[in-house]
Amino acid sequence: MNETIIRLKLVRQRINNACNDAGREPNEVSLLAVSKRHPAKSLLTLNQLGVSNFGENQLQEALLKQQQLSKLDLEWHFIGTIQSNKTGPIAEHFQWVQSVDRSRVLNRLAAQRPATLDPLNICLQVNIDGESQKAGAPAEQIFELASLAEGFENIKLRGLMVIPEMSTDPVRQRDSFRRTRMLFLQLIEAGHQLDTLSMGMSSDLEIAIAEGSTMVRIGTDLFGPRET
Ligand SMILES: *Cc1c(COP(=O)(O)O)cnc(C)c1O
Repeated sequence: MNETIIRLKLVRQRINNACNDAGREPNEVSLLAVSKRHPAKSLLTLNQLGVSNFGENQLQEALLKQQQLSKLDLEWHFIGTIQSNKTGPIAEHFQWVQSVDRSRVLNRLAAQRPATLDPLNICLQVNIDGESQKAGAPAEQIFELASLAEGFENIKLRGLMVIPEMSTDPVRQRDSFRRTRMLFLQLIEAGHQLDTLSMGMSSDLEIAIAEGSTMVRIGTDLFGPRET
């Protein structure tokens, strides 16, 4: 618990400092705790400290934790690669899906989102650096996907998610974030009402916030190293 308190405090401090440096208000940036490969008890500890948004990238693992923590009021974000045949449980058990990158997945999520639930919040994942092995739609396809998403009543398009090319060069990292923000602004100009630019992880949250991130996804610096 003590260790978690310190980690959370440090992460919140970094977010605050980055916002100050960028002339932004700290409440413009929300924190998503990326709990993949950490046990339910670690999520419980963090929830007791006021964190209730969790990101998972493996369906089975996430469903198990959701069951173990079903008494808590948590918001679950799916942030991993989506296999088309797994969209059903994702549509049923998450409030957000941040890794939507193709029309087939979007169509299936919309068809499978239960009518009894609120609309599913979606971010389109963009492969901003055009990496061949990486998930995410090419920037050129984002407009078409956004229009498709707007057509579904039980889908709420919230914005974009990005994982930039791995780089130790802050100038290059910053450029990837900047291009993602430009795309985000173009979507808004095109009439989409978006409020979420999900970018920034443990190692690069400051640069992401400087470039307009509204949601940082933090795993390692909140939970420590992953267990497997
Ligand atoms: C694992 C993961 C993160 C968190 O990464 P850390 O470096 O541990 O903070 C963020 N976003 C996605 C999509 C991830 O898969």
